[in-house]
Amino acid sequence: MNCPVCSGRAIGKVGVEQFYCWDCCIEFATQTDKVVIYDLAEDGSLVAWDDPALNTEISSAALE
Ligand SMILES: [Zn+2]
Repeated sequence: MNCPVCSGRAIGKVGVEQFYCWDCCIEFATQTDKVVIYDLAEDGSLVAWDDPALNTEISSAALE
C-alpha cells in the first residue's frame, strides 16, 4: 500500500481499510471501487479532500 497522493510508503493503518500518510498528513480509506482521501483538521477531525477532480484522478490511478 502506497499513499495515493505522494506514492510514499510512510503509511500507518488507523482503522479498517483506513490509512494515514505521515508525509502528507492525510488519511485515506480504500473502498470497493475508489480511494477516498481526507485532510486532517487541526482539531483532529477528518475533512473531505477539497478537490473532487483531483480525487477522481488519484482514485483511478491508484486502481491500476
Ligand atoms: Zn502521502
